[in-house]
Amino acid sequence: GHLTLAHAERAVIVAHERAEVNRLLGVDSRVIYPDEIAKLCPELDLSNHPDFPIMAALYHPPGGVIRHDAVVWAYARMADRLGVHVHQGTEVTGVNVQGGRVTGVRTNRGDIQTGTVISAVAGWTSEICRMAGVETPIVTHPLQAFVTEALKPFLDVILVSATLHVYISQTDRGEVLIGSEIEPYTSYAQDSTLDFLEVTAAHSLELLPALGRVKLMRAWGGLCDVTPDYSPIMGLTDVEGFLIDGGWGTYGFKATPIVGVTMADLVNDNQVPDLIAPFALERFWKRELVSEIAAAAVSH
Ligand SMILES: Cc1cc2nc3c(=O)[nH]c(=O)nc-3n(C[C@H](O)[C@H](O)[C@H](O)COP(=O)(O)OP(=O)(O)OC[C@H]3O[C@@H](n4cnc5c(N)ncnc54)[C@H](O)[C@@H]3O)c2cc1C
Repeated sequence: GHLTLAHAERAVIVAHERAEVNRLLGVDSRVIYPDEIAKLCPELDLSNHPDFPIMAALYHPPGGVIRHDAVVWAYARMADRLGVHVHQGTEVTGVNVQGGRVTGVRTNRGDIQTGTVISAVAGWTSEICRMAGVETPIVTHPLQAFVTEALKPFLDVILVSATLHVYISQTDRGEVLIGSEIEPYTSYAQDSTLDFLEVTAAHSLELLPALGRVKLMRAWGGLCDVTPDYSPIMGLTDVEGFLIDGGWGTYGFKATPIVGVTMADLVNDNQVPDLIAPFALERFWKRELVSEIAAAAVSH
């Protein structure tokens, strides 16, 4: 289950609106109040003492966490079985373009001739696109997270608070995973900062005071490719044969399966599938933005 916490009357109204829209789209989603929240997560501080007391929550019972490493390895294994070569440790250093058409990529291990290149490099999208002479409005922001030491299972819901800029869940290994939203500055730095740890830990304790004596074990950062409307960029570019899948920002992992299918269809049929047509790069020059800022906040 997934709980998006509401700490103000306005947030409760928004939770109701979101539940209505979700149900209209066939998604199991409803607003619940502290008595039911307490049953789902007895460790939550549901008193009036915190600065931002919990008034309600948007509850999505089937919500869950994907084992990202298992998924990525499964994709790699199946791709390998189907004859795909994954060239590990091979850095693209240039993209060859002749007469407005892609002819190959340059790498640190030699050149590869090809008429089709898909840029799917998340935080490095603007760099790779620039190699092909394609400008994107993508900016790269760090996103950090940390895990605690392993605890016995106590948390089987995902907690999200946009007010406190924090999400919390417990992994299969027992670690409590805690994250936040993107850093407000652009950077390619992937280390962890004390600012982030202090603020995010303090906000987590507002929700789960029992974590106060738990040790932090690991912290890290990744790069998020953020577009002006927080929607991804998928499809063709002005350079023939050079395709983009990027701009997913903080929420691209869950989109991976449908991205794979639609981008493969695009390459095979040389026609943009209807589903991804609104996400073309040219929408930024045509002012046809697809605003997804609500999807891109702390609730990845
Ligand atoms: C802390 C954190 C938490 C997140 N939480 C969530 C979440 O809860 N849910 C969700 O859906 N998403 C989440 N995301 C976002 C998600 O991880 C990304 O959107 C997703 O991984 C993007 O997938 P991708 O395959 O496009 O790129 P990536 O998985 O980033 O892979 C890009 C690859 O390209 C490689 N590359 C870059 N430059 C070059 C080059 N020049 N030559 C060769 N290779 C290159 C990189 O090394 C990398 O391996 C999170 C991200 C972070 C950092």
